[in-house]
Amino acid sequence: MAKTPPPQRVLIFPLPLQGPVNSMLKLAELLCLGGLHVTFLVTDHIDARLRRYSNVQTRFQSYPGFRLQAISDGLPENHPRGDKFLEVFESMKVYTKPLFKELLQSGGGDRISCVIADGGLGFPLDVAEDVGIPLFIVRTISAACLWVFFCLPQLIQSGELPFTGDDDLDVRVKSVPGMERFLRRRDLPSFCRSGNVADPNIELYKGESTNNPRAAGLILNTFEELESPILSHMCGVCPNIYTIGPLHAHLKSKLAATGASLPDFSNSLWEEDRFCLVWLDSQPHKSVLYVSFGSLATVTRDQLMEFWHGLVNSGQRFLWVIRHDSVAGESRVPMELLQGSEERGFIVDWAPQEEVLAHPAVGGFLTHSGWNSTLESVYAGVPMICWPYFLDQQVNSRLVEEEWKLGFDMKDTCDRSVIEETVRNLMEVRKDEFQRNAAQMASSAKTSLGDGGSSFSHLERLIQDIKAKSV
Ligand code: UDP
Repeated sequence: MAKTPPPQRVLIFPLPLQGPVNSMLKLAELLCLGGLHVTFLVTDHIDARLRRYSNVQTRFQSYPGFRLQAISDGLPENHPRGDKFLEVFESMKVYTKPLFKELLQSGGGDRISCVIADGGLGFPLDVAEDVGIPLFIVRTISAACLWVFFCLPQLIQSGELPFTGDDDLDVRVKSVPGMERFLRRRDLPSFCRSGNVADPNIELYKGESTNNPRAAGLILNTFEELESPILSHMCGVCPNIYTIGPLHAHLKSKLAATGASLPDFSNSLWEEDRFCLVWLDSQPHKSVLYVSFGSLATVTRDQLMEFWHGLVNSGQRFLWVIRHDSVAGESRVPMELLQGSEERGFIVDWAPQEEVLAHPAVGGFLTHSGWNSTLESVYAGVPMICWPYFLDQQVNSRLVEEEWKLGFDMKDTCDRSVIEETVRNLMEVRKDEFQRNAAQMASSAKTSLGDGGSSFSHLERLIQDIKAKSV
């Protein structure tokens, strides 16, 4: 009797950053649940952190087809990767690319039949084409920001780019179809302000509109109902799009449907302070503002003090994540400056964010508008105050305020009185309105994940297509 062939093996290759690793591990598990084998490829640096701080190894024991595999990024161990990730990408293009090609050819012991790689890496598409393995691009930014990247050539051609931070940033941008109504210069990705059309970031992202259509499909961590006007424009350039987000919630929903009982998923690259959940347990319903600027953003000492005074003067309770490396140019956070509101404020180095946002005591999120944080907040039904730091965050924060009416966009301002007033507005004055809008959006996210919902159906289609296209 003929032997049944083993399930197809997909190699997933995320960008070596917390946000993308986080969401793509969830995608990995969803594919394992869909009957595929998965090799999860990360750089040595990320591999070491995952093995130290996350429970990926124990979590994936339930999936015998899962492998965590490491590849070198070509940089010395002590390189400050978090601060200088353009250097990481540059090094990977030169050093990791040939190693990746070898791996695809040898499979590291397994036969790789399909690749899912972060489009931000660039080179995996060339390599996969070269060795004849189908590749799906995944992007862990918003569809809106990706669409802006697609439109960079038109923005340059129309003369809307370049501009500088000294130009009038409130001028409307016309060359991004579907976003003409609300997009201003200040809402474009931060690198657009460089005043230089040859800026390395502009160069890096200009190729998106030509690269993405070359892939077998484009996988996005979003859901149709959240970004449908943009998605309908994007489909014109890149017809095969799978919107399967919010991934963190999609996984929970699939696991609940299978009745599987697995250890909690912690895929942090830092140690989580779980005591803040105990502190939250003792706080009133929707009374706490959660404050976090993600894994990469830094603030100056002055900005730290503006936030501190703004939060304290607002009179609201807050839980604030201040990473030990989050004050630019300082090796430690000057905690001695942040004294005097201990009964209302709680500071941690790193929090279990998804659980924090789902906690009934949390009523608002002051965020840097990273895409994962934004989606996690949308799903949890938590209104936001946005203080975007860079890249896609400038676009995301505009959507939060103008398109979705889920809170305030505080970009380009860091002033204690503005912070104080904005926090009061979100948590008190306009609380009901924002809570209502956030609850509606959260409900539409949940519907998209349910049987027959948009993200549910796109994932089914993705798994079928991977199985059909695999070589
Ligand atoms: N995160 C976390 N604990 C924290 C802060 C952030 O677990 O204290 C997680 C958060 O849930 C999200 C990711 O780190 O999944 C940050 O990704 P995002 O895209 O929001 O921002 P980035 O860190 O890439 O700027």
